[in-house]
Amino acid sequence: MIPLRIKVEANADRPFVVRMRSFEAGARQQRAEQLNPFDVTLERVSSEGADYVGEGGSIRVLGIDPSKIDGDVLLVNPRRGTADRLIRSSSQHNTFLVTERCDQVCLMCSQPPKQHHVDLFPYFEAAALLAPEGATIGISGGEPTLFKAQLFGFLEKVLEARPDLSFHVLTNGQHFDQDDWGPMNRIDQGRVLWGIPLYSSDPAVHDEIVGKTGAHTQLMENLALLCRLGASIELRTVLMRPNAYGLPQLARFIATALPFIRIWALMQMENIGFGRMNWKILFYDSSDGFDVVGQSIDFVRTRGINARLYNFPLCTVPEPYHHLAPATISDWKRAYREECYGCALKPQCGGFFEWHPRNHGYSKFGALQ
Ligand code: SF4
Repeated sequence: MIPLRIKVEANADRPFVVRMRSFEAGARQQRAEQLNPFDVTLERVSSEGADYVGEGGSIRVLGIDPSKIDGDVLLVNPRRGTADRLIRSSSQHNTFLVTERCDQVCLMCSQPPKQHHVDLFPYFEAAALLAPEGATIGISGGEPTLFKAQLFGFLEKVLEARPDLSFHVLTNGQHFDQDDWGPMNRIDQGRVLWGIPLYSSDPAVHDEIVGKTGAHTQLMENLALLCRLGASIELRTVLMRPNAYGLPQLARFIATALPFIRIWALMQMENIGFGRMNWKILFYDSSDGFDVVGQSIDFVRTRGINARLYNFPLCTVPEPYHHLAPATISDWKRAYREECYGCALKPQCGGFFEWHPRNHGYSKFGALQ
């Protein structure tokens, strides 16, 4: 698995952000012109590590080849001797985990909520401003809108300073209100996609899945508000046994009550956190029971709504739907199986989450030669 946290040595009291730069020998002039105050440049590589120096601080990186982190933006924690790779320059899958707090307790949550919270928004802002040209950065939690003022301020500032960047914000949609008109209007909504879960058209089923009474009602109010605010919405539905057979009803509900969404994403489960604890009662074998998925997708698409399948191994999806199933599992947590060897679909397939069980649960699965 690609490491998101690496070992470092740094002589400082407090955390700081740096961008890692390597230059060919002899390119000193070019180097001076290209440097930003947050840049540290590679000076020396030895058996003890790779030494970087710069205005922002000097650090030694251990246990990873400098070529693998060139252009990365790190949040260095000197006391712990670690650095988090907030931005990996070669990756399309950079996400800032802004909090682990959440007011919902979803049955399949991959990141179960914790009470502890440290505000890292100033570091995220510095890191986003150093991101590669044209990057899309994910924002996730926990529930990011529990810290709405900081989140809105962050989005406004970064989007204004970097017209090339865009964001994908995962939120449970519970905390928007009328007071958000001002801050939401200052954010360029054309460059933010709000990923919001809706599990069922039946409020009781949705509320049971998210562990919060009244969540469905609040969500409907807030989706209407977001529509008026001009927000782009990706509605996300994790497929599970409690909601799978209600998908056709949900499709009809979306087409009639929520036709303004930009995309409806049906998602396979992730076997980690509560998802692992509840796997046996929740996992739905969509390779065998694709009919409800297919019908639901067909229904919304005939009404002009985009639909996508996220986290589905491609061989578990009937061929006519392959073009709707992009490789969505992030590079650092993606894995393939022995059965994938020689598979003709592998270049387009997102495979499995690294932690998906060995007994994968799909009755129809295997390499297409
Ligand atoms: S066999 Fe592996 S690579 Fe091929 S489609 Fe299935 S999961 Fe993807």
